[in-house]
Amino acid sequence: MSTVLRDIDYLVAWHAEAGEHVYVRSADLAFADGVITAIGKRLDGPFDTEIDASGHLVFPGLVNVHTHPTSETIRKGVTDETLSPGFWHSSLYEHLPAFNPVDDEGRSACLKVALAELLLSGVTTVIDLSAPFDGWLETLGESGLRAVAAPFFRDARWFTTDGHSLSYDWNEKAGREAFERACRVIELAGQQPSSRVSGMLSPSQVDTCTESLLRDSHAFATERDLPWTIHAAQSVTEFHEMQKRHGKSPIEWLADIGVLDQRSVIAHCIFLDSHPWLHWTTNRDLEVMVESGASVAHCPTVFSRRGIALNTLGSYLRAGVNVGIGTDTYPHNMLDEMRTAANAARLVGQTVADVTFRDVFYAATIGGANALGRDDIGRLAPGSRADFVSVDLSHPSMMPVREPLRSMLVVAQERAIRDVYVDGERVVRDGTLTTIDLQAESERLQRAQAAMLKAVPNNDWAGRSADELAPMVLPTQEL
Ligand SMILES: [Zn+2]
Repeated sequence: MSTVLRDIDYLVAWHAEAGEHVYVRSADLAFADGVITAIGKRLDGPFDTEIDASGHLVFPGLVNVHTHPTSETIRKGVTDETLSPGFWHSSLYEHLPAFNPVDDEGRSACLKVALAELLLSGVTTVIDLSAPFDGWLETLGESGLRAVAAPFFRDARWFTTDGHSLSYDWNEKAGREAFERACRVIELAGQQPSSRVSGMLSPSQVDTCTESLLRDSHAFATERDLPWTIHAAQSVTEFHEMQKRHGKSPIEWLADIGVLDQRSVIAHCIFLDSHPWLHWTTNRDLEVMVESGASVAHCPTVFSRRGIALNTLGSYLRAGVNVGIGTDTYPHNMLDEMRTAANAARLVGQTVADVTFRDVFYAATIGGANALGRDDIGRLAPGSRADFVSVDLSHPSMMPVREPLRSMLVVAQERAIRDVYVDGERVVRDGTLTTIDLQAESERLQRAQAAMLKAVPNNDWAGRSADELAPMVLPTQEL
């Protein structure tokens, strides 16, 4: 089956010789069997289907390099502004253990709502870092997204008994078993009916894995030619923990044990030795990242809520680090994340010159594709996958249209997105998902959140209630 979109007002096409995205006006885009076959003016048919795309912006589907869709959506209205003064206000050590879906029903609701939001905001490829559960891969496949399943494994879990010191509950045997299970899940991912589901290696955090688990998982990734990802340099607490253990920064240690290379994706890579909060005496980590060829998974929203930021996106890019963008938390709105990426960089860099929307758009397309080692996504050119997004330029939020990408990123966000295609399949049609009933899943998520909130005192080190840990914005007046 061949399809052509006719007379696209602004097509963001990939100029292969120049190696850059360019606007092409009044263009046709043809595809068949999930692959773009031609881009040009009034392409000659015949085509099985012809779609009038005049008055539309068409751009490559966004590549999201870091999400936790099975746990994050349930935290809406809960962890948005929680405090954790003993841990530099990172939410990792006190809040994440307390606020989790209580069962697979809750995890499944979380996942479907997140996948729906991702698609509706123009994401066509996503890395999903989750603890595996029954039905996970099937749900990813049925969503229509191009999904890379990254099943978690680790040797230790964090815990605190006082809210200011972090302890590690080590169990290497369990870590090894989880790694082996993850390898099996990755094999299964490759056998799903949807060819759009694949797998990658994901040891959870730099401070919760032994050197041998990191080396072995990286060797497995190398052997199978799969990407490998880990959380590192994500909190001040973690930076000091790694200094205490090894006399090295988290990034330096990963490089020294041989797991930092082009297949490595580091989330979130904020607390490099040069970060001003650390007042450390060296300034090597950024160069280590550049030399290794590893990528950064940049997720500014969740950190900006806690007053934490990369220092800065522009300086990482200028140094030559490959950066992709991810939605580490709700909303799973990639366009919102991109806007935050630009604003946060300019605030921290104290200049509009720190980044451009061009930089941010490249990070969300080419940067993500590079992180996954792919040259057939994140761009629209003959031979690329037919993953693209169509935006209605006549939507009031887009008008007046002088610069369509800026209209969308600064103002319209996902509101003007009409259609999203993955592998040539229309997964969003006229603004509505064809694969997920978002209203029904949101209602299921509401019930799952209520169950989670009830269980909070059992999971908090001090036995606090949800309302004590995450107070309401306003008090409730009884009538
Ligand atoms: Zn994460």
